[in-house]
Amino acid sequence: MGTSPLIRGFEVVIGLETHAQLSTASKIFSGASTRFGAAPNTQACAVDLALPGTLPVANRGAVERAIRFGLAVGAKIAPLSIFARKNYFYPDLPKGYQISQYEIPVVQGGRVEFAFEGRRKAVQLTRAHLEEDAGKSLHEDFAGQTGIDLNRAGTPLLEIVTEPDMRSAAEAVEYAKALHALVVWLGICDGNMQEGSFRCDANVSVRKPGAPFGTRREIKNLNSFRFLQQAVDFEVQWQIDRIEDGLAVEQATVLFNPDTGETRAMRTKEDAHDYRYFPDPDLPPLVIAPEWVERVRAAMPELPAAMAERFQRADGLSPDDAALMTQSLAFARYYESARDACGNAKLAANWLMGEVSKRLNAEGRSIEEAPLAPAQLARLIGRVVDGTVSNAGARQVFDALWSGAGSEVDAVIAERGLKQMSDSGALEAIVDAVIAANAKSVEEFRAGKDRAFNALVGQVMKASQGKANPAQAGELLRSKLRSG
Ligand code: ADP
Ligand code: MG
Repeated sequence: MGTSPLIRGFEVVIGLETHAQLSTASKIFSGASTRFGAAPNTQACAVDLALPGTLPVANRGAVERAIRFGLAVGAKIAPLSIFARKNYFYPDLPKGYQISQYEIPVVQGGRVEFAFEGRRKAVQLTRAHLEEDAGKSLHEDFAGQTGIDLNRAGTPLLEIVTEPDMRSAAEAVEYAKALHALVVWLGICDGNMQEGSFRCDANVSVRKPGAPFGTRREIKNLNSFRFLQQAVDFEVQWQIDRIEDGLAVEQATVLFNPDTGETRAMRTKEDAHDYRYFPDPDLPPLVIAPEWVERVRAAMPELPAAMAERFQRADGLSPDDAALMTQSLAFARYYESARDACGNAKLAANWLMGEVSKRLNAEGRSIEEAPLAPAQLARLIGRVVDGTVSNAGARQVFDALWSGAGSEVDAVIAERGLKQMSDSGALEAIVDAVIAANAKSVEEFRAGKDRAFNALVGQVMKASQGKANPAQAGELLRSKLRSG
């Protein structure tokens, strides 16, 4: 705690509430589709609108995803939890209430761990609860009027609430990234932030070190990590300005404007009692038997931390390399396939961190979109290991495969004449010629100058048009110079 960074003498305190859209095909209490991008109001059914005579039924798949999340973060899965109505008026909520969980959420406690500033950091979770999303107001296309699209109404969300554990915007961003990676890894959320599948509310306050927590303001609906960083940065300066002007920070809900980079109060914050929470009479308590939890546990994928640990132990990767290989489940699977196919973990990891990541980053693609299959990468690595191509040659082959200019490693090597010289007779002829033509360097080498030797190797490489194996060329040169 004593190591918290201070800004203008203040400590920043942040708690995040994240809405992760659960990847079910249908809504949380109805059979309507959750597909993104449908024409407005074609996917909201009578249940989503709570029309008289309809009854909600909880979606098993949504509950199962909540259980999966709870197990992954080491939380308690409540054997019995309650769906409650949260009552408020808003045009995109024609029911007049949102079904959520209040007093007894399905996931209780737990923690999310991630690397931050060279250390392992754990953020404690308060809870995660199931709830339905509201509709959406569309202000853009209606010449001054607002349209309402209710397709999103009833979409399943898991709201994941942290303790006020974070002490900087950067730390909040790292937490959000780790949480994002985790829900995608678990297959419970598609993680698409542009489409709103993962959005954060940031609760921010400041205090003098050692003082009790200050009053917080809640920044709503941040749907990118950059916005999260910018919004918290702005908010912290705003709150400190206020306090230094002798004014109080009032509890409020604020919106971030990405165009100006500013936060602005939307309303003074309502308290829980304003929502008149009460158990939804249409939904029985959510009962989760221990057998159900065990079934979900048995079907869980290996978690990123465990997998990274395995890559260090079994493959000899460094902690940093192992963390990079487990940046997503797809990346880890790619690494494992390439490793198994070429039999060299370190080289597979190096290629993935080097050429592959460089290309993916430059092109803004994810590993699922890599044009090169793990088996092709493995074959290329094999051709470096068996001396067929040099590292430089291998990079050329890689570029050709990546850009679709060829699909078969050996064919590309042959077509582009990248095969290293393995014929020792041909190499020997070149070495002899180089020795004969560079008497000065030979003399200098014999006088003990290492640089002269490197120059001779360079000449051999040049004469072979880069096809000589440098190690082999060096060896041959050395033995000839010694015996000569
Ligand atoms: P509410 O019920 O009004 O949403 P909660 O107690 O559930 O309030 O807290 C909501 C979020 O605000 C949590 O993530 C919590 O960690 C965070 N939080 C609470 N107090 C503070 C504070 N003083 N500064 C920053 N964040 C806070
Ligand atoms: Mg809350």
